Amino acid sequence: MYYYTDLHIHSKYSRATSKNLNLEELAIWANKKGLNLIGTGDFTHPAWFEEIKEKLIQADDGTFKLKPEIEKQIGANIKFILTVEISTIYKKWDKTRKVHHVVFVPNIKSADIFRKKLDTIGNIKSDGRPILGLDSRNLLETVLESGENSFIIPAHIWTPWFSVLGSKSGFDSIEDCYEDLSEHIFALETGLSSDPEMNWQVSKLDRFRLVSNSDAHSASKLAREATVFDIEPNYYSIIEALKTGKGYTGTVEFFPEEGKYHEDGHRKCNICLTPEETKKYNGICPVCGKPLTIGVLSRVNELSDRKEIIKPPKTAGKVFSLVPLQEIISEIKGIGPASKSVTIEYEKLINTFGAELEILQNIPIEEISKHSALLGEAISRLRQGKVIKKAGFDGEYGEIKLFNKNELI
Ligand SMILES: [Zn+2]
Ligand SMILES: [Zn+2]
Ligand SMILES: [Zn+2]
Repeated sequence: MYYYTDLHIHSKYSRATSKNLNLEELAIWANKKGLNLIGTGDFTHPAWFEEIKEKLIQADDGTFKLKPEIEKQIGANIKFILTVEISTIYKKWDKTRKVHHVVFVPNIKSADIFRKKLDTIGNIKSDGRPILGLDSRNLLETVLESGENSFIIPAHIWTPWFSVLGSKSGFDSIEDCYEDLSEHIFALETGLSSDPEMNWQVSKLDRFRLVSNSDAHSASKLAREATVFDIEPNYYSIIEALKTGKGYTGTVEFFPEEGKYHEDGHRKCNICLTPEETKKYNGICPVCGKPLTIGVLSRVNELSDRKEIIKPPKTAGKVFSLVPLQEIISEIKGIGPASKSVTIEYEKLINTFGAELEILQNIPIEEISKHSALLGEAISRLRQGKVIKKAGFDGEYGEIKLFNKNELI
């Protein structure tokens, strides 16, 4: 049996997130998606931390659940673990570095120690994802000092502006970033714009297990990526699985082309280039003459030391490439994924067949086809990896389609 987790998410207290992103909403959507455990996100934020303490109860395996009366009221239940994303911005070796990290702690006590320490360093009140002028190495030290079993997973490690290996403000290796404490990093988040196969091109990443998470800013986006385990996930089994591989299965992935920073380009100039084309233009935008935003594919190529992709035998997991169900319905109906009739159809499907991850991966195609022949065909193609890709660039999402335009007229 597979268990699905989504470990990097946000609350309504992070910038640019949905206003109704509270714990109940997260639980309801986690159930619709078929997740077994999610992060709380944003636990350093005072108001969110109060909500966590008020509405959740802790088990001794490092997980939390909504109080029974709340679960009953909303008809949903999910396990949480305490997580927060931290953005560090600082100068190192004459370059400005901006790195995002997902922090995990096993209990309220460690969370409190960590929050209080950060409160003396910077502002944790204005944003659920605090921005601190702190060296990443020192952030990791603070995490480790907050108590036993607290840890960091570097977030979306390839995005150009805000990640450990990003082209604009990252480093060339995990070790350059976390220095003498690097051994405490054992997992990396691939982010929406890269998939495990791309990461396997860089041999110095072989020792890390790869995780994927939604980084959702609204609850309906949960599980668009996820990390999969084959043992019941709790705080400690997740650490064990990510450190040793015991219980680690792999990841649910976006097709990386769908991510906002897959290829290179300029959104304003409407220029999207492959790594080869970027080289031809010497990294300069042919429209405005300014440096292009170098995407994840180029950056992986730059750090790659392998001609052929080799699956690291010790750490590699399975890869499940999916497209969110709302997007598939939206393509079939020819209207936006947030529109009402997509929502109605989505709810109908969840009520008929069960959770979204089940529908996308396991419900027999014949059964889905009885409900909608087009949807059956779409999901059949998805399961075979027969998709049509248009790459994202410079903050613009890419598109993954299952039908040619003329098939849907
Ligand atoms: Zn981030
Ligand atoms: Zn995030
Ligand atoms: Zn331009």
